[in-house]
Amino acid sequence: MPLSRFQRLLEGALASTGDVRVSGRFVRDARGMPHLTGQLQTVLSLTCQRCLEAVDVPVTADVDVFLLGDEAYAERLSEDEDYVVFDHGLDLPELLEDELILALPLVARHDDCEPQIALSEPEPEVVVAPVQKENPFQVLASLKQPDSE
Ligand SMILES: [Zn+2]
Repeated sequence: MPLSRFQRLLEGALASTGDVRVSGRFVRDARGMPHLTGQLQTVLSLTCQRCLEAVDVPVTADVDVFLLGDEAYAERLSEDEDYVVFDHGLDLPELLEDELILALPLVARHDDCEPQIALSEPEPEVVVAPVQKENPFQVLASLKQPDSE
């Protein structure tokens, strides 16, 4: 599916070219519950939060959700099974977009880059000059008269 179709996902993205790779299957499980599983893959061009340049961020979302025509069917699912309820037909792209948005990284940045703007100047290092203390042994040595022969 063209990435440009996912306008909510593209908020804040620098480019809308590319595709979302969708693979999945839709089955009824042993209980007769409609179950959608699959994976979504795309690459988004986002702003690196460190150097402020563009960074390509791979986004992968695993889809594992039951599609229910009525909230009442949710009782048949166990607590760790996700579901969506659709009352007026299912908007599959909308559902996929939600999954991709959930899979977005919290912070987009290159693995290795330098900050463009130093947000806070590091404190100048305070160098405390060590107090020169006379070494008592050196003092003794200087007092000691050279051996006269
Ligand atoms: Zn960067």
